[in-house]
This record gives sequence, structure tokens and C-alpha cells, in this order.
Amino acid sequence: MAPLSFAVFGHPIKHSVSPPIHRAFAEQFGIALEYRAIDAAPAEFNDAVQQFFADAGRGANVTLPHKAAAFALADDRSEAATRVGTANVLTRLPDGRLAAHNTDGAGMVRDMTERHGIALRSKSVLMLGAGGAARGVAWNLLDAGVQTLTIVNRSRASADALAGLIDDAERVQSHDWQQLAELGCFDLIVHATSAGVLGEALPLPTSLVDEHTIGYDLSYGAAAAGFLAWAKSAGARQAVDGLGMLLETAADTFALWHGQRPQTEPVYQSMRRQTA
Ligand code: NDP
Repeated sequence: MAPLSFAVFGHPIKHSVSPPIHRAFAEQFGIALEYRAIDAAPAEFNDAVQQFFADAGRGANVTLPHKAAAFALADDRSEAATRVGTANVLTRLPDGRLAAHNTDGAGMVRDMTERHGIALRSKSVLMLGAGGAARGVAWNLLDAGVQTLTIVNRSRASADALAGLIDDAERVQSHDWQQLAELGCFDLIVHATSAGVLGEALPLPTSLVDEHTIGYDLSYGAAAAGFLAWAKSAGARQAVDGLGMLLETAADTFALWHGQRPQTEPVYQSMRRQTA
């Protein structure tokens, strides 16, 4: 029997670690699968996805810049995908239709709370960035009981738009990047910009941090180095990257496709050693 066929779509996609993660998860259960990385430019995305599923593809992860297109393409959408308006998972249903899911937010919260012991209830949270990733995790922070969520983005309009979409004026505010120095300090700072990936500097005031502050970067590896170094030098209690989020998000996807939940910790430790 041919192995089950899966893929991740992105542009660029060469450096994706999703294929080895899914292969490592599959080994835990003796599942034979093929998992490819497919580079599709935005204009080619819809055709490439349709072709993949027509060729017996079972499921696909979707990353930058295709998450909104994946959501639009689907016939059926989970609640988490619908409120965010983007999808990081497409699954072929038995009747051939495509289902969209978004596992980013749940994966991040599980990584924070279960792997890193970060308590979220009643905390004040600053989110830097209002792009796809920030949007993907914002509701989950509120579901987890944070007291306030302050969204600050380089382009103020996107921060306002996200706060408006969430529509929880009691807990959610948006501000200008230029106002960062006036906001005081936070229990948790979630770094959700792509500045690290792009190799761009991210000037941040140390007044955002006190000895209780935790810094969490959605990026990992070299892309997270700048923010984590800033958080530590500003005096943060803890500063962690998004490698665990990546694993937890992938584990949710794997469970969706295979009906079995993999152990993330051995894969996390192995990847941690490789990126050290
Ligand atoms: P988007 O392109 O959708 O958004 C980029 C965001 O970064 C925007 O808010 C943008 O602001 C901001 N930004 C970019 N450059 C700068 C800069 N120099 N200074 C300040 N702000 C800047 O990207 P995503 O939201 O999808 O991804 C963001 C990060 O999250 C990436 O590093 C990605 O790798 C990571 N990620 C990690 C995941 C994981 O599982 N660990 C999952 C998903 C994402 P503006 O609106 O002004 O342009």
C-alpha cells in the first residue's frame, strides 16, 4: 500500500522543519507516510493545493503567505479558523471536501502553560505585532483568562483592526509603537513580529520589563535571538522561544489527521539540541 501523503505549502518553504517533525511523530506509531515541502507562489497556491489533493493527498499544513488563501479555499471551517480568518491545516474529508483548521493558538498556549509553566490567568499581556501569527494566537490568550491584552504594531491600523475584530473593549487595547515607552511593564510580552526572521532590529524600551516579566517569542532559532537577548538584558524572569509552539501545533495537526496524539517532548529535546 502506498504511504499516506501529506505536505506543507509555503513560499519560501525550503527551511521548513514540518517534514522531519511529522516523520518523527509517525515513527512513534509505526505509521508510513510521505510528507513533502511544496513551494507555491501566491498565484499558484490554489491550483497546487487542488492538484495535491486530487493526487490522493490526505492533509496539508499551510504557512506564510498562504494561511488566508487556505481558509478561503476550504469547504468546511473549524471554529478556531473561522474567528481568526486563516488556516494552517487543510484536511481532505471522506467525501472529498476540504476542511480548514487553525492550531496555532492552542499550540502556543499549551507550550506556554504545560512545557514552560507560564501562568496566563489574570496576567497583563503585551503583544508586539498584529500580523497573521498575532491574529492566530490572540483569542487563545483571552480564552486562557489573561486580564488585559495590549496590541502594539508598527502599523497602528493593523493593531486597531485586530483589537476591533476581537471586540472585547474591557480587556483588549491597541496602541502606537511610539507609545511603548509610556505603557509601563507587563507580566508577559509575546513577540509576534517577523523582524527577527527578516534580520531587522526591533528597538524596545526596557521599561516594558520588570523582574516578574516573561518574554515569549513566537520565532525560534536565530530569528528569536535578538528579542530573547533584549528580554534577558532588560531583567525578564524568563525568556523562551517558539520552538515548543511549533511542536504543539504540529502535534494537534497530527492528531487531527491520524487520530493519535504524539509525544512532543522527545522531538522537542532533539530539535533543541540541534539548534543549540
Ligand atoms: P506577518 O507577515 O503576517 O506579520 C508580520 C508582523 O511583523 C506585522 O505585524 C509587521 O508589522 C511586523 N513587523 C515586521 N517587521 C517589523 C519590524 N522591523 N519592526 C516591527 N514590526 C515588524 O507574519 P506572521 O505574523 O505570520 O509571523 C510572525 C512571526 O511569527 C514569524 O517570525 C514566524 O516565524 C512566527 N511564527 C511562529 C510560529 C510557531 O509555530 N512557532 C507559527 C506562526 C508564526 P506591520 O503590520 O507594520 O508590517
